[in-house]
Amino acid sequence: MTGEKILIVEDERAVARGLEYGLRDAGFEVQWAETGARGLTLATGWQPHLIILDIRLPDISGYDVCRRLRREGQRQPILMLTARDEEVDKILGLELGADDYVVKPYSLRELISRIRALIRRTYGEFALAAGPTLISVEDLQIDLERMWVHRRGTPIDLTPTEFRLLRHLVTHANHPVSRDALIEAVWGYDSDLGNDRTIDVHIRHLRQKLEDDPANPRYLLTVRSVGYKFQMA
Ligand code: CA
Repeated sequence: MTGEKILIVEDERAVARGLEYGLRDAGFEVQWAETGARGLTLATGWQPHLIILDIRLPDISGYDVCRRLRREGQRQPILMLTARDEEVDKILGLELGADDYVVKPYSLRELISRIRALIRRTYGEFALAAGPTLISVEDLQIDLERMWVHRRGTPIDLTPTEFRLLRHLVTHANHPVSRDALIEAVWGYDSDLGNDRTIDVHIRHLRQKLEDDPANPRYLLTVRSVGYKFQMA
């Protein structure tokens, strides 16, 4: 895999330069924006395949950059850089729409494997198991191929990560899927990196978007000590 375009939005020159060097070395095409404003311009003008976005920027915060990109309909995977793990809830927040995050200091190897996984999951070929691609359950219609979800006829706006998670659960409907299997299916790396919480946060968001009563879900059920399952019937 080479040549994908990656935009780094990061004001710390040393961090950005290190990243730029490492990513170029890994075969990516890289541009660097030192401010949020420049990041927004490059994100729409250059159309990167993935955006690495620092939260603390001198002008517009990474949160606002992310929010604005999603509002403008930019759907590239966004990987946020944060200094603190506690920010995960906000980073993966409903209105924000980031796909993943890495806590500083991170290893370049880990970051690159996250980037590759996100790109593969977003743009890679999706070999759907034999079966229907248009799923209808009560008030939900899910098109697995064209990646849309309607609820009572109204389109539901899911982030690419939320959709991949839902798609994996739906293609294994009525069967419990472990968090490890979800992490592998959705992000493509193993759970040693400790992202169970990421799964839980995304599931919570999916419930808020798809369920009448997110606290008592009809579709996305918790399977105690295993993970989750999509209840079809
Ligand atoms: Ca910064």
